[in-house]
Amino acid sequence: LEDREVLGWAEFGEAARDLAREVVRSGWMPDLVVAVARGGLVPAGAVAYALGTKAMGTLNVEFYTGVAETLPEPVVLPPLMDTSELPGRKVLVVDDVADSGKTLALVMDLIRSKGLPADLDLDLDLDDDATESLHVDARSAVVYAKPRSVIEPDYVWRRTDRWIMFPWSSQPPVTEEP
Ligand code: 5GP
Repeated sequence: LEDREVLGWAEFGEAARDLAREVVRSGWMPDLVVAVARGGLVPAGAVAYALGTKAMGTLNVEFYTGVAETLPEPVVLPPLMDTSELPGRKVLVVDDVADSGKTLALVMDLIRSKGLPADLDLDLDLDDDATESLHVDARSAVVYAKPRSVIEPDYVWRRTDRWIMFPWSSQPPVTEEP
C-alpha cells in the first residue's frame, strides 16, 4: 500500500529518540511536556523519557464536526489540565502529526494564552526577568508533519503527505475473541 506511511513500534522508538535529540541539539530544554490526547500521548511519553523530563500534562483535543459538516474545527475536551503553573515555564507540546495543523495551532494558542502575550511587554514596561516569569515559552514537536499544515512545528521527525498508520491505532480495539 504505497498510499500509506506505516510506522512500526520499533521505528517509533527511534523516532522518539531522534525527536528528543533534535530538542537537545537546539539548546532548549522543556520544564514540562504536554501531550495532545489521544494521538500525542504515546509520543509525548516516549519523548519525555528520552529528555529526562518528569513533569507532564495532557490536553484532550478532538475534531468536532458541528451541524455544518463542512466546517470541522478541533475543540478542547475535559478533563482540562491545570494551566496555572504554565507562566514562566518552557513547555514542549507533543503530537503525533500536524496534518491540517489546526489541532496543534489551537493547543499552542491555548498554552501561550495562559501567559502574558509578548506584545504586552512593551506596553507594561516590564524588565526582562518579569517578562520571562509571566511568559509561556512553548514549542511543538511532532512525529510527522504534512505539507498543508497551517503551523510549522519546531521539531519534526519526518514529513509526508500520505495517510499515516501509527502502531497504537492501526488495529481495531480488542474484543473477547482471540
Ligand atoms: P490536524 O488536521 O488537526 O493536524 O490533525 C488532527 C488529528 O487527526 C491528528 O492529531 C491525528 O490524531 C489525526 N490525523 C491526522 N492525519 C492523520 C494520519 O495521516 N494518520 C492518522 N492515523 N491520524 C491522523
